Amino acid sequence: MYTQHVVGLEVSKLNCPNCDTDSTGVVDSRPTNGGEAVRRRRECADCGTRFTTYERTEWEGVQVRKRHGEIEPFDREKLLGGVLRAVEKRPVSEDEARGIADEVGAEVRANGGEVVETSEIGEKISERLREMDEVAYLRFVSVYKEFSDPDEFAQELDRIKED
Ligand SMILES: [Zn+2]
Repeated sequence: MYTQHVVGLEVSKLNCPNCDTDSTGVVDSRPTNGGEAVRRRRECADCGTRFTTYERTEWEGVQVRKRHGEIEPFDREKLLGGVLRAVEKRPVSEDEARGIADEVGAEVRANGGEVVETSEIGEKISERLREMDEVAYLRFVSVYKEFSDPDEFAQELDRIKED
């Protein structure tokens, strides 16, 4: 049978363009010149049709590099979720929270096609939250900075009090 494993995951089957069955497999897989895409030759097990697919990075949106180096597409909904959790039961309306997510999303997208660090996005959001509500701000930074140590959290609290 045709199976192909990439980092432990089986490459998804695609329907045959000729007979529409899903019993197709990858018979050859190689990078294109420059390594910007992967070209796969696929073959249908039912009718024998061979076809080619290309796998490319989705660069339409901004890519975000996470703390441990993993890169994924920027996700506005995820960003909004983080802001909403931070402002829960605080005097910041959902509209204001959406406003923050929209503003930061627009700033991030203005760098189109680049890789943005999550820490950079986190800074942008926390700056805005800090002006609105310090509890929401602290909640937010405690998540995005992943405080593992209560002392770090206390230091951040002191920084706020000093200002
Ligand atoms: Zn077929």
